[in-house]
Amino acid sequence: MSHLETNLIHQGHEFNQTKAVVSPIYQSSTYYADQDLSEYIIAASESKHPYFYHRHGNPSNSQAASIIASLEHTEDALVLATGMAAISTAILAIVKAGDHIVTQRSLYSGAMLFFKEFLPDYGITVTHVDQSDNQAFEHAIQENTKLIYVETPSNPNLAITDLEFIGQLAKKHQLVSMVDNTFASPINQCPKDFGIDVIIHSATKYLGGHSDLTAGVVCGTKTFIQQVWRRSLVMGASLSPFDSWLLVRGLKTLALRVRQINQNALALASYLEKHPAIKQVAYVGLPAHPQYELAQKQMKGGTGMLCLEIGADGEELAYQYAQTVLNNLKIFANAASLGGVESLVVHPASMWGGHHDAQQKASAGITSGMLRVSVGIEHIEDLIADFKQAFAGLGF
Ligand SMILES: *Cc1c(COP(=O)(O)O)cnc(C)c1O
Repeated sequence: MSHLETNLIHQGHEFNQTKAVVSPIYQSSTYYADQDLSEYIIAASESKHPYFYHRHGNPSNSQAASIIASLEHTEDALVLATGMAAISTAILAIVKAGDHIVTQRSLYSGAMLFFKEFLPDYGITVTHVDQSDNQAFEHAIQENTKLIYVETPSNPNLAITDLEFIGQLAKKHQLVSMVDNTFASPINQCPKDFGIDVIIHSATKYLGGHSDLTAGVVCGTKTFIQQVWRRSLVMGASLSPFDSWLLVRGLKTLALRVRQINQNALALASYLEKHPAIKQVAYVGLPAHPQYELAQKQMKGGTGMLCLEIGADGEELAYQYAQTVLNNLKIFANAASLGGVESLVVHPASMWGGHHDAQQKASAGITSGMLRVSVGIEHIEDLIADFKQAFAGLGF
């Protein structure tokens, strides 16, 4: 099959061995095995076997993985219980004690925690560079570097990493390149087309799309996915049958949802950019974004993620303004996570206050007056009106 809209509906249907049009939920921890022991050996050792034991695989997990691999133009994929399970398991399939990773300064907080607090305890060192500085990535490469790990657009400040450059750099130095493609979704960005080896997602976000599941996915070559699968057997973060069934269901409308979200977010960002209460809007679809041309080159849409900074004199007032706007908003709910059909907003300085110190927050570009918005599929006029009345509470 060739078009992604068709693949979203039909890919992986062979894993449904029933007559039901919609695959059932395989709510079973184990499966009847063949009496023939030579068949049993194969089932017990085959990567992602869908009918052996749940930690090895499940038909819905295989179906979801097959759909996502087709979206990401990779040979294979593995779904796991969360985005963090995908990130940690995939990284541990590449590095071991004595190895080094080059990554960027602005990263999802969970990935940052893994790099800063956990990997060093296992003898793995990490260098963080400015993601908008291509040369900085090359300069950070050492003799023991094994992996370049990037995230674009990044969380929460929506900076872009040059995927084609990273893909070529990794090839030149025989390193693995890995990207967290969660914010873009495969509808807006296909890193494999720029030479990236491994693509991971928090499928909790756009791929699931309804804020009703947690899941993660690793996409890459068959050989690599086999390596990740072997580690997933011992890490044990398998995706539950119900969550993978929900994921397959959510994926069917991915293209429709993301395209509507792109449209809504561009319209909202254009409105916010001109509002007198706003100091700055970071949205990759606005020509004012400092890396707009790069975004246009590697992305097909701007995503639903934007970050706005409320204008205020001093940190304290900025914090107060952010609190007031958050209180006033009625449609945009204050909740962690993103990528669902409903619009959400968070105050990054509070969300990561407990994990990052002041210097880390500054280095990740997080300020007191900043709000991160995940735009949903509500009517755009209602979304704009919601911000309009929220700013009116500040006296604008
Ligand atoms: C949410 C998120 C993750 C982690 O995913 P979980 O499903 O919550 O484990 C990783 N990367 C990005 C960019 C995210 O937004």
